[in-house]
Amino acid sequence: MQALSESVRNTGQKISFVPTMGYFHEGHLSLMREGRSRGDVLAISIYVNPTQFGPNEDFEKYPRDFERDKALAHGVGVDVIFYPEDREMYPEHYQTYVNVENVTQNLCGISRPGHFRGVTTICAKLFNIVKPHFAIFGKKDFQQLVAVKRMVLDLNMDLEVIGMPIVREADGLAMSSRNVYLKVDERESALSLSRSLKVAKQMYDRGERDVTAILGLVRKYIEGYPHTSIDYAKICGTTTLEEIGRIEDEAVLALAVRINNTRLIDNYVFGMDLDV
Ligand code: AMP
Repeated sequence: MQALSESVRNTGQKISFVPTMGYFHEGHLSLMREGRSRGDVLAISIYVNPTQFGPNEDFEKYPRDFERDKALAHGVGVDVIFYPEDREMYPEHYQTYVNVENVTQNLCGISRPGHFRGVTTICAKLFNIVKPHFAIFGKKDFQQLVAVKRMVLDLNMDLEVIGMPIVREADGLAMSSRNVYLKVDERESALSLSRSLKVAKQMYDRGERDVTAILGLVRKYIEGYPHTSIDYAKICGTTTLEEIGRIEDEAVLALAVRINNTRLIDNYVFGMDLDV
């Protein structure tokens, strides 16, 4: 992969890159289409990265289907799929990690200790292997995008990180590979996330700026659905990801909600469109 990327770069062509864990849905494909339009060569990676999963998380049962992914990637014009094995990425004696300190503390940093260290480490490695000019990420994983952007700035990595809108199902549920875990009666409860974002947007659009007022309604709304338990519902500044009391500058409402055993995340940046 490195040799291929080096030869592409030597011809002056631009490389777009979409890192993924596979099991593609329309959200992944939208990033690939963006990559296709920006670069001459479109590379993706499919790798379920063990270092970003906690000991009691779903690493083993995370859905995988390489043949299906390959066909979907082909359909949107992907040139190269980098599909490494664990022993290639983390060989014996592996001991180097990248840690972005502050923006990874709050939100998923609390409920998933070590998760972002795994994410930024694998992204740094993939960037060194694929040598992209553009790396395309989804805003669905908002904190991940902020952390990766921070890492690229702080470590002077020579690439542009691009964030793309959240792609949703027709009923508003944010697309996720983990949605396959949802049982029929849980599917309706999963809509509590996107619908509560809409409630918050409506409050904001009517002029509400008080965080306690907005979160109070959001929580009540989610808790009104069966099977739900809120991991967090917070409103934070979009660059610091620290909680705020009033919405004055750009702010994000970030949600993590368990629907029985399935943990879903979603978010809304105030003032933006919401396709729900
Ligand atoms: P994953 O395979 O879940 O690690 O996701 C790979 C990339 O796809 C990440 O940049 C995600 O943010 C992005 N992504 C996942 N779901 C969505 C979605 N519903 N809309 C847009 N991007 C997404």
